[in-house]
Amino acid sequence: CGIVGYIGYRDAYPIVIKGLHRLEYRGYDSAGVALIDKDLKVYKKAGKVSDLEHFTDGLNTKGSIGMGHTRWATHGAPSDRNSHPHSSGNRRLTIIHNGIIENYAVIKETLLAKGHVFLSDTDTEVLIHLVEDIQKETGLDLREAVRIALNKVIGAYAIVIMSADEPDQLIAARKGSPMVIGVGEGEYFIASDATPIVEYTKNVIYLNDNEIAYIRREDLLIKNIDNTVQTPYVHELDLKL
Ligand code: GLU
Repeated sequence: CGIVGYIGYRDAYPIVIKGLHRLEYRGYDSAGVALIDKDLKVYKKAGKVSDLEHFTDGLNTKGSIGMGHTRWATHGAPSDRNSHPHSSGNRRLTIIHNGIIENYAVIKETLLAKGHVFLSDTDTEVLIHLVEDIQKETGLDLREAVRIALNKVIGAYAIVIMSADEPDQLIAARKGSPMVIGVGEGEYFIASDATPIVEYTKNVIYLNDNEIAYIRREDLLIKNIDNTVQTPYVHELDLKL
């Protein structure tokens, strides 16, 4: 039910955890994070954000790119293995998702027939396996594979994807679920609403339905899922409350 992402020059983990706490008011049953330092690390747990924090105590939480999720289960019971992030079969790609992939069952059947093995009962895991499958079949880069995958999906989503093979990039997209991008200097923030972002920057972009944001430390590109480049409008938040 909540999404937070960070790419920049600071440690992502504390920013992501603090952001997840700020989104707790939305309600949730599980929480998880993904970070890239040298490798991709995924930590997730049923329960509260504070349970996740206890779980990661003493573990490697380094990395200046990361994302976090609070889940409100729709497909698959609340449990550690159904918590987000979910990874592809080769464990190179990982996704967080708020919303519902309505046609996940059909896609899952096709992927099962191709030998994909699923570790959760979620609709979300199917989407990241689909991206991996498209990359494998077409040889396209991650940006295009995600765009093509989203064209095959029916439903509502706010997603963020990270890849161990492209460790300098976050890919975010939305349709029907909110997503805000905070624009800093040499850093970007992603969140379901502006509350996790306001303490870092007042410049935000509200992603529109059917848009994909390709985010690197030094640049941001927004495309519609039909592949047309969008010109983002940067709003200035009014912080006088
Ligand atoms: N449908 C997904 C799941 O059940 C995402 C739920 C959410 O929005 O948190 O895992």
